[in-house]
Amino acid sequence: MIINEHLKKVINSGSAVRSIFELGFKFKKEGKSPIDLSIGNPDIKPPGEYYDVLDQAIKESRSSSTNSHRYMSNSGYFETKKRVAADLSQMYGLNFRAENIFMTVGAANALDVLLSTLIEPVITFENDIPGLRKTVLAQDQKFALDEIITIAPYFVEYRNLIKSNQGKQVVVYSDEKYRLDIASIEKAITKKTKAILLNSPNNPTGAVYGEEELISLAELLKNKNDELGITIAVIEDAAYGLILFGENKLYSILPHYKYTFFVTSFSKSLGLAGERIGYFAVHPYLEDDADEWEVLQSALAINLRIKVVNAPALQQRIIERIGSFLKVDTKAYERRMNRLTDTLENLGFQFERPNGGFYIFIRLPSIFKDEADFRQAAHEGDQPLLYVPGIAFGGKRYERYLRLSVCASNEDIERACRRLKELCGKRIYRQRGSL
Ligand code: PLP
Repeated sequence: MIINEHLKKVINSGSAVRSIFELGFKFKKEGKSPIDLSIGNPDIKPPGEYYDVLDQAIKESRSSSTNSHRYMSNSGYFETKKRVAADLSQMYGLNFRAENIFMTVGAANALDVLLSTLIEPVITFENDIPGLRKTVLAQDQKFALDEIITIAPYFVEYRNLIKSNQGKQVVVYSDEKYRLDIASIEKAITKKTKAILLNSPNNPTGAVYGEEELISLAELLKNKNDELGITIAVIEDAAYGLILFGENKLYSILPHYKYTFFVTSFSKSLGLAGERIGYFAVHPYLEDDADEWEVLQSALAINLRIKVVNAPALQQRIIERIGSFLKVDTKAYERRMNRLTDTLENLGFQFERPNGGFYIFIRLPSIFKDEADFRQAAHEGDQPLLYVPGIAFGGKRYERYLRLSVCASNEDIERACRRLKELCGKRIYRQRGSL
């Protein structure tokens, strides 16, 4: 086969989300009508204003005497970055400039660029000659990789992003309310800790971190930096930053900790996941040390160039005009979530009510022996219910959990509620019957 051995192993090891995706196809082929609550693929269309600006940008490009589709600076158009910087400054009371912003191919690309910039690679260029790659990983496996702390349950892709950038993922569990467990984070920090990855609103739990826990974390990191003589970065993944329910507000660690990189995208807020547009912002205080800032800026731009060259031009032109606050009708996601949580509560599932995002993370009631038992029942019949097993988000601790997504039509949410009632009802009836 033409692909490398490593990739073969990756493919053979399988992915929970991919196998569910394939299962959906299989059910459809069999003439069934699956209810797919597995994937967070934003189904709500961008608002009208997005299309107006898109039409206008295309018209302007067509009538322009110059070509507006040429190469650009790797970090993106200055005017787009200026607009994003102004929006961020307004949000967090810091003075962001265009130079602090790097436009990316969605949030995933931003995370990838940041991890590749922070983690010391074990594969390096020899004599700085591009193309001459040398593996320096010690045979005795004692070589200590740089460590990235993730808070479980965590977004599945973090594992792959850290691995592919040659880092070691360190898992710290959140507390029972999915809040940051500062004492456990403290225990996990070592001299090799390079960064901690935060995600709020959280995938899969819907938790939104409060200001106090972020301040406590900032204090801990400052103390640990001093004690160990290291610099721990925070990568704050706010991919769902505008999907907030009720009166919830998005807090950031940015005002409290300067080694912070803020990551987000327009994938969820504007329903543009397929257009691949996002950015990361570097804390403006990192400019204080002029020499270091210059090196950091170049390193980030080089890594962006190596990975994707630059973010899509047309989408950057749109963001320059509409800014960072426009969003889809997020109330629609909230209504679906409320419908689902009311049903789940009545049926005895345990969960924390999500404060934002696309997902709910639920614990199976005792009427089901385990997740395999639930799965068997859920996949039976003409309307199989698809979800992602909790184990994918942090291992065995979540083996009785499931993640459900509200990126499904209202009709499918209704079908899911009916199906859940039916599954639990049948099970209770069967258990009572056998008593
Ligand atoms: N971060 C989290 C927590 C996500 O759930 C996702 C996508 O589902 C991403 C990042 C990637 O977002 P994007 O599509 O903008 O790359």
